[in-house]
Amino acid sequence: MILMLQEYLADRSIIAGLQIGEDLIEQIISAAYSAGFKTAVFSVIGALSSFEIAFYDQGVQEYRRREVQSPAEIVLCSGNLSVRDGKPFAHAHAALALPDFSVIGGHLLSGKVFAAELFMTGLAGEPPVRSHDPVTGLFLWKGKG
Ligand code: ZN
Repeated sequence: MILMLQEYLADRSIIAGLQIGEDLIEQIISAAYSAGFKTAVFSVIGALSSFEIAFYDQGVQEYRRREVQSPAEIVLCSGNLSVRDGKPFAHAHAALALPDFSVIGGHLLSGKVFAAELFMTGLAGEPPVRSHDPVTGLFLWKGKG
């Protein structure tokens, strides 16, 4: 059974060159706000100068966090924008290549932009709202009623 399914029509799409030295997640939310998007899907390519990434430990139901003070290529970063605690929330995952060409990936908490290009498509309609799910411990989209 599907937990939640909601239909949207695609609104406009934007591209944005992001600011060096500023946080990637904050700039994603800021770009969505500027475009008037409350719901969106996005991808980013570029490079970070440092970042914090997490892995959700399903047994303990806690994120294991890792701060990495290293330049990294954004091999892939994708995500969506919805609402959590009444505020816009960007859920982003990333695969990041380190200088030795190894790749680290997971739930992206923050990233200092070196150079990054954002592509985002807004979805017309009310955004899905995240709420705490007692089974997974995560903040998931819930259906109406
Ligand atoms: Zn995640």
